[in-house]
Amino acid sequence: MTTGPTSPLDLITADTLLSDDERLLRDTVAEFAGRELAPQLNTWFEDGTLPVGELAPKLGELGVLGMHLDGYGCAGASATEYGLACMEIEAVDSGLRSLVSVQGSLAMFAIHHWGSEKQKEHYLPGMAAGTTVGCFGLTEPDAGSDPANMRTRATRDAATGDWLLNGTKMWITNAPVADVAVVWARTEGDGESGKDGYSGFIIDTNTEGFSAPEIPRKLSLRASVTGEIVLDNCRVPEERRLPGTTTLRGPLTCLNEARFGIIFGALGAARDALATTLDYVSTRQVFDSPLSSFQITQAKLADMAVELDKSFLLALHLGRLKDAGELKPHQVSVGKLNSTRVALEITRQCRTLLGASGVTLEYSPMRHANNLESVLTYEGTAEMHQLSIGQALTGQQAFRNRG
Ligand SMILES: Cc1cc2nc3c(=O)[nH]c(=O)nc-3n(C[C@H](O)[C@H](O)[C@H](O)COP(=O)(O)OP(=O)(O)OC[C@H]3O[C@@H](n4cnc5c(N)ncnc54)[C@H](O)[C@@H]3O)c2cc1C
Repeated sequence: MTTGPTSPLDLITADTLLSDDERLLRDTVAEFAGRELAPQLNTWFEDGTLPVGELAPKLGELGVLGMHLDGYGCAGASATEYGLACMEIEAVDSGLRSLVSVQGSLAMFAIHHWGSEKQKEHYLPGMAAGTTVGCFGLTEPDAGSDPANMRTRATRDAATGDWLLNGTKMWITNAPVADVAVVWARTEGDGESGKDGYSGFIIDTNTEGFSAPEIPRKLSLRASVTGEIVLDNCRVPEERRLPGTTTLRGPLTCLNEARFGIIFGALGAARDALATTLDYVSTRQVFDSPLSSFQITQAKLADMAVELDKSFLLALHLGRLKDAGELKPHQVSVGKLNSTRVALEITRQCRTLLGASGVTLEYSPMRHANNLESVLTYEGTAEMHQLSIGQALTGQQAFRNRG
């Protein structure tokens, strides 16, 4: 079930590095995920949908929405516990973990970290309970890796002091089903030294001028709802602006939180794929023997298990650093880059061991691999994390082409 000492995948008994409380939390989430999420997952994935309004209150009751935040109905768990919860949920499907990440690490964290007391009291308890669903709109059709290039603008209505937002956000998880959206917009001349600023706005999605059409036909993360956000003179009062967000530090601090969850989460998908495959090869007969008895099979299994166990140690180390308040952004990049790469490689390799059975929904590896293509891309693409690590190593930033 887990990386516990009884799991054949935990070759290095990494489970002993967890506290009793951490193990209990992990097992509780795993039990919930197995009971409430796993049985219906293939149907959601096949239909390309997720009953977010139904699931969010259950996840809220479990206590995983904004679980690493303090107060306002949040559980106040450690970062490591949050990571372990992400791992168990993503062991079922990355789309489900995306729901938890977007709600807790993006929308709720933005309000918790950057919001006024009034905003926190108004929004966070319902979001922690899952009765209010949030989304986080940063990416645009022409600005993904480079959010500084965003076109969405917020201009001040001189008569009322309200903000009028215009623009389009793209690829926004849960936008079509959200009750509240944290949307980032350029504010003219409002930033440092009179430059354009970037502010976050909390928008109730029933506000006039706000619409969120669904993006259909995704091949990846199918058990997740994704949409655009179209803002057409959408009026937002000043008290719904996140105070203190004037630069891109606003959204980037939130992204760092969500990236952290992925470091653990992606390994859950890889673990499930490997466990499924181990099971399969031990019963599948080829050339009159179990597939597991062949040397090439064992070499593949060994390499995958070693990568998985090493990656879990890295995730745990980064979790401990975060709990000590010492985790740096480039270290998050090390973890996100490693976990997503390793998980993708493992799920693809697992698929090969399943032969033709591997291309069906009956077995999880290819579904996980498909999902991980999105996980590799969102919360900073692999290349963005390479550049972040490159900057830490060399002291030179190579994001922008200066030629
Ligand atoms: C399923 C899904 C859900 C998502 N959910 C959300 C959400 O909830 N909220 C949200 O705001 N966004 C969300 N996103 C968007 C996601 O964060 C972006 O797709 C991501 O940041 C990449 O942006 P892009 O797609 O515009 O790609 P681009 O930025 O156009 O990048 C294209 C390619 O160019 C590379 N590239 C870019 N710049 C450089 C450079 N300087 N040097 C070298 N290579 C470079 C990239 O690494 C990538 O390989 C989601 C995406 C997906 C797929």
